[in-house]
Amino acid sequence: MPELPEVETIRRDLEQVLPGRTFTDVKINYNGSIKEPSAYAIKKGLPGRQVDFIDRRGKYLLFYLHDSTVMVIHLRMTGRLLLFRDMPALDKHSHVIFTFDNHACLIFHDIRKFGTIYWLPEKRLDIVKGLSALGPEPLTEEFNTNYLYRTAKKRRGQIKGMLLNQSIVAGLGNIYCDEALFLAGIRPDRNSDSISAEECAKLCRAIKEVLKKAIEKRGTTRSDYRDALGNYGLFQNHLQVYGRTGKPCLACGSMLVRKKIAGRSSHFCPQCQK
Ligand SMILES: [Zn+2]
Repeated sequence: MPELPEVETIRRDLEQVLPGRTFTDVKINYNGSIKEPSAYAIKKGLPGRQVDFIDRRGKYLLFYLHDSTVMVIHLRMTGRLLLFRDMPALDKHSHVIFTFDNHACLIFHDIRKFGTIYWLPEKRLDIVKGLSALGPEPLTEEFNTNYLYRTAKKRRGQIKGMLLNQSIVAGLGNIYCDEALFLAGIRPDRNSDSISAEECAKLCRAIKEVLKKAIEKRGTTRSDYRDALGNYGLFQNHLQVYGRTGKPCLACGSMLVRKKIAGRSSHFCPQCQK
């Protein structure tokens, strides 16, 4: 699933091309991708409207339009947003096709069909389940050691589950949780209330560091993820633990292990992580 670095990479790609452009056509091949208002309303209503800018919250992309409405897209498991200069050849997973006044095409492509699209007045964004409940952005000041420590102390579950919770921190998923916990030297199955203030400081730094590096490398492609130009990310070449089960830890040489934690396959070094 695309996480914060992948969604941010797509946002930056779209931001190069779409601001100032006007929708001229919307074709919807799979109505199930549209959550609000309806496929019909989007097909009828979007053409003629202009894109002001593209924002991101957690794993959500927000297209702010000039008339104070917002199109919200969540890619979920396999969603892609692919930008083309002209109409490309379409396949059966090309569910929504947006055309703009410079003939550019934006394709919402989604093999598993879990991705969602909303189009709403700005002041009604609260009806997007999950968006209004998001916790702080991890790359802002609001997400800091104190916040992490206070939150961890109040909770009973494992730290990995806490980091995956979008209402605690927005945009982390399985890959970047595992990578950040490795960098911080904390086992993913530690109880969150057992984590010291010093460890929280390390974890906060590790989360910011791993996300910044992953954005710099344009995200991680394990299978489905592509940027808006259809290219692979590069951060898979820099992963320390994720997907490296049975291979030696790059820090100590011990064999990395995998264990189901917080319902997710979790990768860690039993030696380096306490
Ligand atoms: Zn190690």
